[in-house]
Amino acid sequence: MCYIEITMPRPFELDPLFRNITTLPGVGPKNAKLFDKLTGGSKILDILFHKPVDFIDRRFSPVLKDAPKDQIATIEVRIERISPAARRGLPTRVKATDNTGNIDIIFFNASKVWIEKQLPVGEVRVLSGKIEHYQGQIQMVHPDAIATSEDRTSIETIEPVYPLTAGLTNKTLRKAQKGALGTLPALSEWLDDAYKVKNKWPNWHDAMQHLHNPEEGEDLLPTHPTRMRLAYDELLANQLSLALVRLHQRKQNGRAWQVTGILRQKILNILPFDLTDAQKNSIAEIDDDMKAPLKMLRLLQGDVGSGKTIVAACAMMNVIEGGAQAAIMAPTEILARQHEESFAPWLDAAGVSYITLTGRNKGKERTAILEQIASGEAQVVIGTHALFQDTIEFNNLGIAVIDEQHRFGVHQRLALSQKSKGTDVLVMTATPIPRTLTLTAYGDMEVSRLDEKPPGRQPIDTLLFPKEKVESIIDAIKRQLTTGARAYWVCPLVEESEKLDLEAAEARYDVLKDYFGSDVGLIHGRMKPLEKDTVMAAFACGDIKVLVATTVIEVGVNVPEANIMVIEQAERFGLAQLHQLRGRVGRGAAKSFCFLLYATGLSQTAKERLIVMRDTEDGFVIAEKDLELRGGGEILGTRQSGLPTFKLADLTAHGELLQTARDDTKLILSKDETLETERGKALKTLLYLFEQDQAIKRLGAG
Ligand code: ADP
Ligand code: MG
Repeated sequence: MCYIEITMPRPFELDPLFRNITTLPGVGPKNAKLFDKLTGGSKILDILFHKPVDFIDRRFSPVLKDAPKDQIATIEVRIERISPAARRGLPTRVKATDNTGNIDIIFFNASKVWIEKQLPVGEVRVLSGKIEHYQGQIQMVHPDAIATSEDRTSIETIEPVYPLTAGLTNKTLRKAQKGALGTLPALSEWLDDAYKVKNKWPNWHDAMQHLHNPEEGEDLLPTHPTRMRLAYDELLANQLSLALVRLHQRKQNGRAWQVTGILRQKILNILPFDLTDAQKNSIAEIDDDMKAPLKMLRLLQGDVGSGKTIVAACAMMNVIEGGAQAAIMAPTEILARQHEESFAPWLDAAGVSYITLTGRNKGKERTAILEQIASGEAQVVIGTHALFQDTIEFNNLGIAVIDEQHRFGVHQRLALSQKSKGTDVLVMTATPIPRTLTLTAYGDMEVSRLDEKPPGRQPIDTLLFPKEKVESIIDAIKRQLTTGARAYWVCPLVEESEKLDLEAAEARYDVLKDYFGSDVGLIHGRMKPLEKDTVMAAFACGDIKVLVATTVIEVGVNVPEANIMVIEQAERFGLAQLHQLRGRVGRGAAKSFCFLLYATGLSQTAKERLIVMRDTEDGFVIAEKDLELRGGGEILGTRQSGLPTFKLADLTAHGELLQTARDDTKLILSKDETLETERGKALKTLLYLFEQDQAIKRLGAG
């Protein structure tokens, strides 16, 4: 089996790259922490994958009379006179000349002794720094480097500039980087030779060297052959690892289901609506997968409210008819309960037994539920992560539906399908993912899209407000409440601090209580499940009319009467998240509004992002735009989203490379499924280089 081959030990030539950074010059235990913070790791490789974003060119060496202002230059001058600071707070001035002009070298708070030693009067020194023109006088404030004429070459270089973190200087980083580059091994080529030649790409070793030694502006562009090659390596490793997992999964025999549609019809008969064409198409695609003897691995993408649940139910009936069990898993307790509510009438109509298992079920109750799952008495199992746990045995799991999967990691997602051999997997996501990102997260997974909303949905009016205008929104809500409106009020997202989220929400709750009294409720992540349910239920039935929330309501919750969504500090949310939140309203008959409150002083990009939200409701458009605006590879919120992040590739610039990597992967595996050929072996090294071996090992063990 291919993944067993992969679990061979790491090729020894990679060892130096996996050593700890503390083996590098200038990196001790203390700044190792800073490096870790900066690069997300403590291996030499982590530094090597940290790209420079700019460089300082000190090769420019004009004479003083021609030295242009605001440019970095290296000049050679004779020191004439040192004028000490007249009083504290004023600088020391050193007068110097090169016979074409004069320059003042300025030092603030520098010791006289040090200056005299660095710049002895009467001698010639080479200085590098920024040339400034101040009141007609050429100046250089605090030169970056000072040397004697003999040492000139030590200065006239190009210094790459790296993104830094507080406490770490570019100098320290550069020193470590130089050390890291010294450990670079030469590796056998894993790229297709013809493709590499056609693109004029360097080999890996040279590419890494060049990455850290840029010489001209073009070297920093994502389209430079060096950066393209390295990006391609990373994308190829990503695609190859996904394809190997997929291959392995496909090899586990799936089951060919009969798909009679009898149970399904019983459900459809009681629905108060007709399926949309998009729903029908998706169901047909799923049926085709399930009739085939291969394991199904399909992604169902559809905006919030596009009607994924009924599609899942139809797929699940296929296996129940065949005498197997079906499971559907949601990322939160609330959502699992909501699925239970949706499914109950359907499954009752179809005469199918079901049970719900979440973290809330404890003790005897839990044991009883587990027994029903293990015996097969429960035909449909609805649950949360709890369903992943090893203690849970299915009698015969035919299909696993994973809802809102972006909350789950790739490995978690696949663990469930390994519970039972040949289990079909349907992954559902309400986060519209740009096409390129879909590829990185799912590789060759089959995709169905619900790109049509059920009829009768009204557009949502989205309005942008500076946060100072919050009172006018409160007034607007007050007016709306008299006509039966119901509002969500979402409080700012404070990164990685549930506690601060909560404080903000509580503060807002207190303010709104003054306006709305007992009509306001509060829900947050720290509440016990039962408390949350009580609040949600009160909101659903209208006892509470304004619900202040942290982002716990983010996913899936369905209260059709809710028609106002207020989001504070909207600029702090990812677009996908804003889109999800907004999707909570606009589900009922009443006209819906979404108010996005923002802080003043937004950047241009932040403004544009909010404008996208105002101008469209199409999740796929929003997702593409989000990727475009985030740019520079800085993919906000991906850590929570379960999408992979890249160090060398920038999907806004390298989307096409991803396509090629995907095609390349197909070709590679069609010829050499176990990666045994010369190129295959090199590709294994590539997988190790990007630590994809971990993913594959874990999956193999799963
Ligand atoms: P999501 O894709 O967000 O999971 P749901 O499956 O929860 O969406 O569906 C949202 C709402 O739309 C539910 O109340 C569901 O009953 C309803 N719905 C689903 N399909 C249709 C349809 N074809 N026509 C009308 N309403 C539908
Ligand atoms: Mg849903």
